[in-house]
Amino acid sequence: MHDIRRLPAVDRVLQQLPGLIDAHGRQLVTACVRAELAAAREGFQHGLPLPDESTLVAAVHRRAAALAQAKLRAVFNLTGTVLHTNLGRAQLAEAAIEAMVAAARAPCALEYDLASGGRGDRDDLVSSLLAELVAGGDANIAATIVNNNAAAVLLTLNALAQGKEAVVSRGELVEIGGAFRVPDVMRRAQVRLVEIGTTNRTHDKDYQDAIGPKTALLMKVHTSNYAVVGFTKVVEEKAMADIAHAAGLPFVVDLGSGTLTNFAALGLPPEPTPQQALAAGADIVTFSGDKLLGGPQAGLIVGRKDLIAKIKKNPLKRALRVGKTTLAALEATLRLYRDPDRLCQRLPTLRLLTRPVADIAALAERMAPAVQEAVGSLASVSVQPCSSQIGSGALPIERLPSAALVLRPAGKKPGKALLALEAAFRALPTPVIGYVRDDAYHLDLRCLEAQDEARFVAQLDALKVANA
Ligand SMILES: *Cc1c(COP(=O)(O)O)cnc(C)c1O
Repeated sequence: MHDIRRLPAVDRVLQQLPGLIDAHGRQLVTACVRAELAAAREGFQHGLPLPDESTLVAAVHRRAAALAQAKLRAVFNLTGTVLHTNLGRAQLAEAAIEAMVAAARAPCALEYDLASGGRGDRDDLVSSLLAELVAGGDANIAATIVNNNAAAVLLTLNALAQGKEAVVSRGELVEIGGAFRVPDVMRRAQVRLVEIGTTNRTHDKDYQDAIGPKTALLMKVHTSNYAVVGFTKVVEEKAMADIAHAAGLPFVVDLGSGTLTNFAALGLPPEPTPQQALAAGADIVTFSGDKLLGGPQAGLIVGRKDLIAKIKKNPLKRALRVGKTTLAALEATLRLYRDPDRLCQRLPTLRLLTRPVADIAALAERMAPAVQEAVGSLASVSVQPCSSQIGSGALPIERLPSAALVLRPAGKKPGKALLALEAAFRALPTPVIGYVRDDAYHLDLRCLEAQDEARFVAQLDALKVANA
């Protein structure tokens, strides 16, 4: 074909694509045909031959498929980080997913009191449940829910300390994931940060000396993503609460993760809980919904009813509130905590964190031959012990023993081969995300549950094609 006039007309190509039009609609397919014809003309002007009709049709199929592909795609998280912020943190429990779908599908009593027929309050959907779970149903404990824990801290500070001072230890001025920094949040909340103590040591007296006429509250921030070790001193929550209360001030704790279960009892590294903080005298605690709690992205503010009422009256609350699907998922997640015996089975975050290493290793051994076959001579596959981390700033030092499929490319300079391997796994129908360490591509299988094994192996065929 040496004549541009031999390119078919748009309508003629469209006639060959009834199935595609059925799937994606005429408008999108027409746009794809036009784009492919334009590309063919452009190529022709640069000396390329014109594509024949079947090549053109295939290109339109590929273009339409790419356009129709959702941007937010499910992936296999084999990074070894269970709560991976970039991969969406907690996987929700089935009960939470069902509740979200139900809330999305039909009108729901979001702010409607079914008993009286009057207006309700969306926080009431979880407030008493939270009081039950973290404070034994104490009637003086209430909760309000916002977009995430960063919002919870911002709102709490602005509502309780605007134009005044908040006292925080220098050892707790954390930055989380580059975007949440305690000093910056304070500034945005219009609160003056009074830093006390030193990076490694803060004493009771530091807090006592910092309290003055402008002090609005004392705050403790959980040092989620780092640890200060060695010659250190922190003031425990109970002592901080006593100092705050002696001065008539509230004591606020940003717990970060805030698990509601006793981690030590599950064989996991201990992590502070809202129960402990409240029992120690905290007036307000804040924590994330999608970290160790295992629920949807949310910020939970729990504590003294009078302070919660004040926080809810702040105009920022309206700007930071959550929607019905979030509340549906949160309520369903929290309900699971009423049955601690089955919690680890039902809540994916805890199920993954408590998964026995022997199970993971057995899965790796089972899968290794299929992965070896799929990568062929590109890399040798072995099963090796590795360590997972919890992620999202929880327990930064602790590691959980796990098992990985390790793909080691042949050759002395494996850099390029590693990039190609990573890219090939990312290009699978359900993209696989692993990590490179020590010149090898690792797939930590902690987060690949048995029910996903067949699906993972089945799609490896596509990897073989990519290699061919
Ligand atoms: C994670 C974390 C935050 C931020 O929580 P998001 O839910 O990600 O907004 C704030 N403070 C601490 C101590 C944290 O660990």
